[in-house]
This record gives sequence, C-alpha cells and structure tokens, in this order.
Amino acid sequence: MRSEKARAIVLNSRPLGEADRILRLFTRELGRVDAVVKGVRKTTSRWGGRLEPYNVCDLVLYQGRTLYTVTQAHLVDVFLRLRDDREALTAAAVVCEAVAGLTPEHEPEERVFALLRNTLRELDTGLNGPALEAPLVLGALLKLLFEAGYMPVLDHCTACGGGERALGFSAARGGLVCEKCLEDAVPITPAAIEALREALGRPLAELRAAAPTAAVAEALRDVHDLYSYHTGSQLRAVRFARAAG
Ligand SMILES: [Zn+2]
Repeated sequence: MRSEKARAIVLNSRPLGEADRILRLFTRELGRVDAVVKGVRKTTSRWGGRLEPYNVCDLVLYQGRTLYTVTQAHLVDVFLRLRDDREALTAAAVVCEAVAGLTPEHEPEERVFALLRNTLRELDTGLNGPALEAPLVLGALLKLLFEAGYMPVLDHCTACGGGERALGFSAARGGLVCEKCLEDAVPITPAAIEALREALGRPLAELRAAAPTAAVAEALRDVHDLYSYHTGSQLRAVRFARAAG
C-alpha cells in the first residue's frame, strides 16, 4: 500500500464505467497525473462536488499498478463565480487543456502549479469580453509556453537575428520574422506584437483588468499555432469557442 498526499488542480474529468471518473490532475507534488475516483457518479456519492474541474483540492492518492485512486479529498479553492461566467469558463478550459498538453506526467513544476492557480483565481473575478480576446488568456498561455521551454522570440527576427521591423510570425521557427525571412510565416500586425510583449511582461492581475482587443485575438492565434506546432494537437476548447463565437 502506497499513498501520497498532493495538492491538485482538476484539469478535466471523464466518465469511467458505470459510476467512476478519471480525473486529469495537475499536482504541486507529483506534476500531472491521472487518478480514478470510485463511485463519484452515484447520486449518493460521498464526494459531492469537490472533484469538479478547476477546483483545487488536497488529495490522498493511492498508487495502484497503472493509475492512482483518490481516497480522500479536502476542498481548498472552489471558484464559484467562474462557473456562472461563460467566457471565464471557456478561458479556464483553454488554460487547463494547455497545461495538460504542455506538461509531461510525473514532473512536479511548482511554477506551473502557481501560474494555473493564479490564472483561475483571476478568472474567478470575471472576464470582460470574449475569452479568445482576453489579455489574461494570452498571458497565461505565453507564460505556460515559457515554462515548457517554447517561448517565442519577440525582440528580433528569429531567422536572421536582425532587428528589422517584424512582419510575420512563424510557429515552426519559433517567433517573429523580418521582411526578408517571411517564408512560411503568417503576417502579424504591430498591435499584435505589442499584445504579445505585454502579455508576457505584465502580471496576471493587470492582464485580467486590461480590455479585450482584436490584436489580442490575432496574437492568440499565433500562440495557438505555436502550441500546436510543439504538441501536435490543437486546443479543443479554442476550437469550440471559435465555433460558438
Ligand atoms: Zn530576418
């Protein structure tokens, strides 16, 4: 019998069999892990709503041969206002999916844990405007890419190193490119470049208060391309939000 204690953020949850769920967790102590919760879908479940996505819980996890099983859960943070705000929920889904996609299993990463928890806290104070135009979402994604080692080059041309005016963004080459090095790059506006720099440089609370803009939406498309280039998949939450948009 081997049990571990961990502070976890529930990234997502999917049904397993008749009554159980598998949670994808980002934990402070164990990094990203999956864990089964037995009986959570029964109406008489002793778990209540504690293990819903985006909650922060202190868990006791029993380590089985292939999966952890949650044996105890104590709620630490529940972001109630987030659940009543469609755009904030979309934003939470985007950021949690990106954490799941960018972090390897079993690698504790305290900065990623803190970044995700702080992002959810900020989202819980409300989001003004669409999630895909929100500076907070752009900032959280860029900071996650930074932690994963995929920070885009934003201060010179990533191809030739020149300081000329950037005219394109290349996911494959990892950042801004100048006029001479466009090749596969998508065009980028000066406003989107500024949005990228601000999203990286400013703290989450300031980004949360900043107005949504079309430039942020453009920058977010580039950052999403960068995410897709490195992970080989798109964020479903972004696709859904665009389809619903
Ligand atoms: Zn160049």
